[in-house]
Amino acid sequence: MNRVGIGHDTHRLEAGRKLILGGILVEYPRGLAGHSDADIVLHALTDAILGAAGLGDIGDAFPDTDAANKDVDSSIFLQHSLAQIATLGWHLINVDVIIFAQEPKLGMVKSRIRDNLARLLSLDGSCVNVKAKTGEKVGFIGRVEAMSCQVVVLLGRS
Ligand code: MG
Repeated sequence: MNRVGIGHDTHRLEAGRKLILGGILVEYPRGLAGHSDADIVLHALTDAILGAAGLGDIGDAFPDTDAANKDVDSSIFLQHSLAQIATLGWHLINVDVIIFAQEPKLGMVKSRIRDNLARLLSLDGSCVNVKAKTGEKVGFIGRVEAMSCQVVVLLGRS
């Protein structure tokens, strides 16, 4: 049996913040604003995994009103979702990620993000794909006001 899940996240860009995408620190003068480390890739990925298993969303388990989640490494959200699906007998089959960012150019970073996601998910690198798209200089992505991420995952259970 298989189940598909989708996740989406958007965070504003802000001066004085580190830019962290898929657990990788990316060189850029601004970073994503948020209560946690604002890693849109890990947030969208966590939501996709939870969604595929019918387990709600990241905010149910980790509300942004909880001081314990302030500036936290978002990989703990991901690990929590992986533990939850494992108890239900699900495992990940593959992951497809799109990062929407006008700047910086992510061509050189995509493979590092993919490798880190594969490590975090205990998947072979061939089962994790990371794409990057600009906003074509229009909308909040194109005006470099924010970044977004979309993720689709497939779960399996025998
Ligand atoms: Mg988020």
